[in-house]
Amino acid sequence: MSQAILTINAGSSSIKFALFPIVEKTLGDAAVIFGQIDGIGTPVAKLAAKNKEGEKIASNDLPTANPDHQKAFDYLLSWFTGEAADWKIIAVGHRVVHGGQLFSKPVRLEGHTLEELTDFIPLAPLHQPHNLAGIYAIQSLMPDVPQVGCFDTAFHRTQPDEAQIFGLPRAFTEEGVRRYGFHGLSYEYIARVLPEHSPRAEGRVVIAHLGNGASMAAMVKRKGVATTMGFTAVDGLVMGTRVGAIDPGVLLYLMENKGMNAREITTLLYKESGLLGVSGISQDMRTLLASDKPEAQEAVNLFCYRIAREIGSMAAAAGGLDALVFTGGIGENSAEIRRRVTLLSAWLGIRLDSEANERRHIRISAPESAVDVLVIPTNEEWMIAHHTRTLLDL
Ligand code: ADP
Repeated sequence: MSQAILTINAGSSSIKFALFPIVEKTLGDAAVIFGQIDGIGTPVAKLAAKNKEGEKIASNDLPTANPDHQKAFDYLLSWFTGEAADWKIIAVGHRVVHGGQLFSKPVRLEGHTLEELTDFIPLAPLHQPHNLAGIYAIQSLMPDVPQVGCFDTAFHRTQPDEAQIFGLPRAFTEEGVRRYGFHGLSYEYIARVLPEHSPRAEGRVVIAHLGNGASMAAMVKRKGVATTMGFTAVDGLVMGTRVGAIDPGVLLYLMENKGMNAREITTLLYKESGLLGVSGISQDMRTLLASDKPEAQEAVNLFCYRIAREIGSMAAAAGGLDALVFTGGIGENSAEIRRRVTLLSAWLGIRLDSEANERRHIRISAPESAVDVLVIPTNEEWMIAHHTRTLLDL
């Protein structure tokens, strides 16, 4: 029987999973099985999975309606027992959104560590409880299998102090009201593979992770120095449904003049804003790019404008710009968004090779460009599997 590491990324209504083989202490480059369960807590939860070749190997309705995370994991592991009978899961690695100030590295999930992670729930109430639910579910179903937590915040702990604090009175900073930053596993992956693709990898690099959730990070010598997300993952760029950076005075206005409470404001900022809120049409970039409605155009323009503004801000934090990397669903797949963002950033000496951009080459900058521009697909799952193998010395 071959050995493998299972990676888990548990969200509010979905669980993404991937199985990576380990052969003679070496982790495979690609997952042999990957997929997700969607619709947790709804009447029709579904498991979909593919094999290494990208062929569909499952599209199953879960046997119970409105399953919770425990039931969904129950189903996932029993499906694995049949479908992946050739694979022995020897460890499980989890994406954990928040490691606070405590965790700047992956950690084995056991004993008091789990209590410490529970303490961070108020810092990430929309994500952390689901990450923990996944950890507890696996613990009860596979008690002998070691688990490792990999944090979305960890990459950013190398930032200078001033990048990590708000201009609030000290007491708030000390109790943890700080800029943490997220998407760290994606940035870590890009930092790791960048030297294969650019001779400027050790220089001043800005990474734009553009998906439904979107953020940017600046790094120098492949260590984080600044990022656009802050205390929560709602800060920074305009996203699919999240508002991004907003004047805090707007929130006071909503409370005082519109009588909105915390729950209503949370829904507004996380679920009803961003591309969806501005366009009134969709959160999906493909739909907006295909639409000729002025509201759709305005949403796309705002998305690109905010990224271009932040490229300037990130370059300032890094002391200049040697390379710009696009990743995430939009960054990897939309030549049009890359074209617009780089055009707005031409003042930095960025020049695109249009054909390389259309064909999605890894290097898409023209030879005369002052900045190396690259498109590198991210792989957060592989990063989790790598940390799990390394920490447990498997
Ligand atoms: P998540 O943050 O949920 O992981 P993804 O990284 O999967 O998000 O990115 C999803 C986004 O990528 C969606 O807005 C989708 O429209 C966009 N996207 C995917 N393919 C393309 C494409 N070819 N052109 C433009 N946008 C795309």
